[in-house]
Amino acid sequence: MTYSQNWDLDSIFPGGVNSPELAQKLELLKAQIKNFADAVTNYVVSNDDADFTNFVNLTTQGQTIEAGLLQVNVFITALISDDFTNTTLSAKASVINALEASYAKPSSQFKKLLATIDNTTWTTILALPTLQTIDFALNEMRQEANELLDDTTEELLTQLSLDGLNAWSSHYDTIAAGLTMPFTDENGETTTISAGQALNHLEGYPDPKVRANLLAGYENMWGQADGLVADTLNHLAGARLTNYKAHGVTDFLKKPLELNRMSQATLDTMWQVVSDNKEMLTKYFARKAQLMGKQALGFQDIYAPVHVGEFTSKDLSYDDAAEFIMDNFAQFSPKMAALAKTAFEKRWIESENRPGKQPGGYMESVPELGESRIFLTFTGSQNDAATIAHELGHAFHSSVLTDLPFWRGNYAMNVAETASTFAELVVNDAKVKAATNDAEKVTLLDAKLNNPVAMFMNIHARYLFETKFYKLRQEKVLTPDELSTLMDEAQHEAFANSLETYHPHFWASKLHFYIDNVPFYNFPYTFGYLFSLGIYAKAQSTDNFEDQYIALLRDTANMSTEELAQKHLGVDLTQPDFWQAGADLVAKDITEFLALTEQFVS
Ligand SMILES: [Zn+2]
Repeated sequence: MTYSQNWDLDSIFPGGVNSPELAQKLELLKAQIKNFADAVTNYVVSNDDADFTNFVNLTTQGQTIEAGLLQVNVFITALISDDFTNTTLSAKASVINALEASYAKPSSQFKKLLATIDNTTWTTILALPTLQTIDFALNEMRQEANELLDDTTEELLTQLSLDGLNAWSSHYDTIAAGLTMPFTDENGETTTISAGQALNHLEGYPDPKVRANLLAGYENMWGQADGLVADTLNHLAGARLTNYKAHGVTDFLKKPLELNRMSQATLDTMWQVVSDNKEMLTKYFARKAQLMGKQALGFQDIYAPVHVGEFTSKDLSYDDAAEFIMDNFAQFSPKMAALAKTAFEKRWIESENRPGKQPGGYMESVPELGESRIFLTFTGSQNDAATIAHELGHAFHSSVLTDLPFWRGNYAMNVAETASTFAELVVNDAKVKAATNDAEKVTLLDAKLNNPVAMFMNIHARYLFETKFYKLRQEKVLTPDELSTLMDEAQHEAFANSLETYHPHFWASKLHFYIDNVPFYNFPYTFGYLFSLGIYAKAQSTDNFEDQYIALLRDTANMSTEELAQKHLGVDLTQPDFWQAGADLVAKDITEFLALTEQFVS
């Protein structure tokens, strides 16, 4: 079997950005939004709607529009990812953004409508058979309405964000897309590379000297742009804080926590356990540095592969990676394996390695088709195979929700990263088990430890930086130097002072700080990782795990995160035990790594 490495977008809208079907869909959405707006404005709870037929219709209309907006968004995002330097696509993206913005007003009017319904009637409504499955979402919306301002102000805020918050986010992309730097390989040949290419190299270029020079060049490149980027970050955060303030929100963590349906207590406990478990990772770093013939690792070395003995890791073909993933998914869940097979065969995945593609990877649901699309660049490394597994984990999550109403699929990022990390764990563990000698096992274990390093250290640094930055930003605008100092301090703390070099301009180079629709794009990753470790441990000791796993995934947008953990895993997330059990699994891998590498150090 040879799988295509280019995705099928024509089945979403045939013919690319100028697709007549896309144009028709945009017209349809426009009309649907107008109808919905009228229906919401005219709706009153009364005897005319005694059986709530009209009310149920409103919920159907809302979900139809949101699914449609997602469908067109996924499509334009996919086109942009495919052809990242093509600036003509942003015109269509703006049209779609404006359409989305026009839905904001009726959407908030609908939420306010919910808040006007008295509690007795509300209970009756939620008990309707068609609404029972989305009662959690409806309750959330009713709650949200309490914070909303009057319709005109809300609409003005939405319109302003097109040239404010959203604009700053895309301004960052414009800056990043224009950056280049010289790159000298191990043969002394120098070429000019983009910021995206530099990032790819930084995460695994085999030669340590080349890597060290790369980080220095990367720092320098971002340093030259840091005035523009600091403006962008300051104003993006400023726009967000002003919006919070307008809604009476003074705690900048309130929204991020709400979006992830989790409590501050859970977040604090998680980070406390992470902080208490740094030492095992610094031991691992010390050994990794030894194996690389260094005193200590630099920031550029933390994810770099180690090579010991005679073994050098072989590149994988795409087809081999696909087969390996499907075989090992099947050990845990035949349904997960079947979904992966569909994704490979039906061309849901864009994985070709070619210039002009967006860096990074993601999965998006295509709601009206009940499908997914996955974007990444497969270069043949073991890490890339793990990335495919990761994105297929997301796709599996999405697939178990397709028969449910749209508002039941609105799961948060923290639990979204659970299914993906789980899938990645399955594949990484299988690779370690399949190793035929110690040297190979060391390389694979090292690759597996990339995740805890990211979650316990790198992501922790981002969270520490962002909390301090937002705190200060409430008072003033920060200079590029102040931002670099903040980042340097955050990295020192998060990496427990274990590195010889850091990346102070990380605040500028990391895209995640510039995402407009999700604040604090960091702690949900660590949450998802540790949560999935807990699930993975359970999977190994439970018969018929597949059904339990799917039941958990189907509830991810149906209750708070604490309730989800209590109901499906029987654990209390505000207590350290569950988190520590996850950290203990990491400790096991590190112990094995230290024991296995003993023979390779002199
Ligand atoms: Zn993910």
